Amino acid sequence: MFGKILIANRGEIALRIQRACRMMGIKTVAVHSTADADAMYVRLADESVCIGPASSTESYLNIPAIISAAEVTDAEAIHPGYGFLSENADFADRVEKSGFAFIGPRGDTIRLMGDKVNAKKAMIDAGVPCVPGSDGALPEDPQEILAVARRVGYPVLIKASAGGGGRGMRVVRTEAALINSVNMTKTEAKAAFGSDKVYLEKFLENPRHIEIQVLSDNFQNAIYLGERDCSMQRRNQKVIEESPAPGIPRKLIEKLGARCVEACRRIGYRGAGTFEFLYENGEFYFIEMNTRVQVEHPVTEFVTGIDIIAEQIRIAAGERLSLRQRDIQLEGAAIECRINAEDSFTFRPSPGRVTRWHMPGGPGVRLDSHVYAGYTVPPYYDSMIGKLIVHGKTREEALARMRVALSEVLIEGISTNITLHRQILSDSEFNKGGTSIHYLEKRLGEWLSMRKEIERAA
Ligand code: ADP
Repeated sequence: MFGKILIANRGEIALRIQRACRMMGIKTVAVHSTADADAMYVRLADESVCIGPASSTESYLNIPAIISAAEVTDAEAIHPGYGFLSENADFADRVEKSGFAFIGPRGDTIRLMGDKVNAKKAMIDAGVPCVPGSDGALPEDPQEILAVARRVGYPVLIKASAGGGGRGMRVVRTEAALINSVNMTKTEAKAAFGSDKVYLEKFLENPRHIEIQVLSDNFQNAIYLGERDCSMQRRNQKVIEESPAPGIPRKLIEKLGARCVEACRRIGYRGAGTFEFLYENGEFYFIEMNTRVQVEHPVTEFVTGIDIIAEQIRIAAGERLSLRQRDIQLEGAAIECRINAEDSFTFRPSPGRVTRWHMPGGPGVRLDSHVYAGYTVPPYYDSMIGKLIVHGKTREEALARMRVALSEVLIEGISTNITLHRQILSDSEFNKGGTSIHYLEKRLGEWLSMRKEIERAA
């Protein structure tokens, strides 16, 4: 096992990884920008190194600075967390070439999955169900493009192969608009991602977002840890996640999970990963694979009892998976609310000094956050400042527990989206379960106009 790990990230996930390391008796190195120098989790680490100014391009994305920090502290491995460099294949390669273990898949695997056309092809080969669409990248000839779209059927979605973060996509509803839309997406993709490779797939009107968590070691052993439903989204950003996915037959999940496991073996996947799917009318369609730990991993940890970060570390250290598929049983239900420093209804970011911070507790309540009273949320990074996760014997119990927990939360000094979470948790459709990825955006307009009443009731 490693003696020391450098954590190339910040905020709640840096603290989460640090906790796993300490449980395993591994020393930690926190790297930080000047803006994060005083954070408590930086002080809690065994060592810390400042890697640059506040701007993340000069600090958390600064590959040479992070590698030198690992060298001067004699760290053996680097955990990238999520975001920042976690899905940067060149970073993974540089880490390994410099003699450190990268806690994640090989650079080549990250590269394969980062190219959506190639990733989709690999999934089709492995028998993972995909959205019907073009056979690889779209051809140049407009007549051929029109023929592809006609075969798939409108509406279609044009997607940039190198796209990410919900960008580089365009819905086309009529043949008349197709060629122009393809050309616009190509131009934008070239500017944003450096590649104008685009492909086309059927646009699903009302899907749910369902994802499968996998773990895979260096010895062709792979397992899946059930599913998560992350349909509660705004602008492709997840707001609430839960496991299991309400109302989906276990048999379907088991079949899908087995396909994902098979795909891991075929591509020689290493580490923790997530296969993301859209689910509509009883069918799953692969959209992409995330080759890192995800924000929403705690809901899976609650229902499986498995520490996913610890598993990532063991796999990177060359250990065999000690778990078999039959050891994985989902118990009860878990829900996560992402706490963001932003207005509940306008989503305007709200960085600044947190003057009061009172958090809930009790059975089945978990809070992953690096924030405390007196902490200043810097304006330079993502607005997520923590996650509130609950577990119950049933989904109803988990929902009740989340309502109680949210009612105890008190944050002053900055605005947060706690009011939005309280509103969603009181929504009858969400409580029934199974809402689509468009549900939240459909309700938001109405909630914005009622905000005074909602705030009074909260
Ligand atoms: P990104 O890497 O940018 O997150 P994804 O392929 O994961 O791109 O897609 C992001 C989101 O776009 C999905 O969560 C879903 O909401 C929507 N989306 C993607 N593909 C389709 C599709 N074929 N039909 C409908 N919506 C889609």
